[in-house]
Amino acid sequence: MFFDGLTGDLVLVAIIGLVAYLLVLWVAALVWTYRDVVARTSDTFTQTIALVLVVVFNIPGLLVYLVLRPKDTLMDAYDRQLEAEALLHEIQEQATCPRCRRKVEADFVACPYCRNSLGMPCENCGKTLTSSWVLCPYCSAERAQPAAAAAAVERSSATTTIASPEMPARPKRASTATYTPTAPAASAAPADPAAEVGP
Ligand SMILES: [Zn+2]
Ligand SMILES: [Zn+2]
Repeated sequence: MFFDGLTGDLVLVAIIGLVAYLLVLWVAALVWTYRDVVARTSDTFTQTIALVLVVVFNIPGLLVYLVLRPKDTLMDAYDRQLEAEALLHEIQEQATCPRCRRKVEADFVACPYCRNSLGMPCENCGKTLTSSWVLCPYCSAERAQPAAAAAAVERSSATTTIASPEMPARPKRASTATYTPTAPAASAAPADPAAEVGP
């Protein structure tokens, strides 16, 4: 041996101490990396890469991992997603004018920006009703349906002019006039094959 007696024992103890220290450091780095990477990603491949990096290169590998690891923990990402969903929900909850998309109050009868009609007051209780509602949700009164009437007018105006007295009163005529050409085209399409089948 190069060392002998007491000196040799001391060197051996020092070496054992050093190895134990490095081993503890190695295991600690591995445990820390495992906990960190599991909190940051659920992707098994990324987790394995991070652990292999630290197992092989230890502290330098840990430094590389710190540089390359995902920025947010899964909890951060989840929080941010909840925040975004809450914001989106808030935006969707706000009543907007269907024509100009600007914010309007829920009880507005007409849009103050573009004059679009937003709803009709209930004949029974006077609350504002959206045009697509078939009855008043506040007093359950059935209503003369402007939506159904408009649809009926739209359908009949393609063939006959029964509902013509009501037509000038409604500001939506311009938009229904653009819709009417599609109605005969849609109804004509099934009629053609039937005509072909006949003879
Ligand atoms: Zn508007
Ligand atoms: Zn009502």
